[in-house]
Amino acid sequence: MTGRAGGRRATPQEIGARMKGERRVLLAVHENPDGDALGSIVAAGLVMEQLGVAWTGFVPGREPFPPELTWLPRLGDLVRGELPEAGDATLYTLDCASAARFGGEGVGAQFWVNIDHHPDNPLYGDFNLVDAGASSTTQILHGVLRAADLPLNAEIGTCLYVGVVTDTGRFQFSNTTPQAHRMAADLQDLGVDVHEVYRHVYENVPIAKVRLNRRAFENLRLLLDGRLAVSVLSVKDFRETGAEPGYTEGVIDGIRTIAGVRVAALVRERLTPTGTPELRVSLRSTDGKIDVSDIAHTWGGGGHVRAAGYTFHGRTEEGIAQLEREVAARQ
Ligand code: 5GP
Ligand code: MN
Repeated sequence: MTGRAGGRRATPQEIGARMKGERRVLLAVHENPDGDALGSIVAAGLVMEQLGVAWTGFVPGREPFPPELTWLPRLGDLVRGELPEAGDATLYTLDCASAARFGGEGVGAQFWVNIDHHPDNPLYGDFNLVDAGASSTTQILHGVLRAADLPLNAEIGTCLYVGVVTDTGRFQFSNTTPQAHRMAADLQDLGVDVHEVYRHVYENVPIAKVRLNRRAFENLRLLLDGRLAVSVLSVKDFRETGAEPGYTEGVIDGIRTIAGVRVAALVRERLTPTGTPELRVSLRSTDGKIDVSDIAHTWGGGGHVRAAGYTFHGRTEEGIAQLEREVAARQ
């Protein structure tokens, strides 16, 4: 995918100045939203509110949000399903590596601002603020708010903090930069209660998700002499544990902890409306030496070097065999 004609990179100051001049905006994030996507869209919406800008937030899909994130403000205001008409609103896409990620191919926005931290983002907007060195999209948003002196309070800060704490694996992953810590310190100074966020996000796990996690460990397969760990969650696993699709967020973090594992994969089976089998695959590279976004690209997916995902159209055993081959070819 190529960028829009005349599109260019823009500075945080330019984007902030544009936000101040908006009348109406349409905000969008990727399907199966995580803490960074939801934190970004809600934070941006709250900023717009403070600026007196009318906003609509859109999240593709109709599945419930991950339970650990449902306490975030304004989630009930978000539009689900089909992308609304942009009309004269400026479109802001957040945390979207491509237009396909929010179902926006062929979108008719008059002006499009692309804020993201995925290295494979093709700069599809008119204004592009893409920083692959940023831990999270909320960190980039925080930079915009600070650079342009935009509204930032404890409520907005809490949403931004959720993005950084989840995308950095609680400040443990390799994207935990000094800037991520500085942002967190700034947000704490604003009154963000980090323990309260921890309680919501990490100590509020539905028992069905705990059971799903157990299934993920039970179903674990160690391939390539233990360098590739694959866990499959079947439709039956979801049914029997009572888990919803959104309950898989973070499940892969258990799989990646196993000694010797270089690539961790969580494979979720799902049935398309037409009944054909389909797999949602999440990948993690533990030591960063195998680029999992490169593997994900094989099937039209994407992501970061150390965290990526894709959809595989086919049966589970075929999907795992193909994944094993791709990992083996990159060792
Ligand atoms: P997760 O495994 O947590 O769903 O996603 C890990 C990373 O890969 C995230 O940065 C996410 O945006 C990206 N990602 C996951 N699935 C896809 C996909 O189908 N396409 C693209 N382009 N990126 C994906
Ligand atoms: Mn992100």
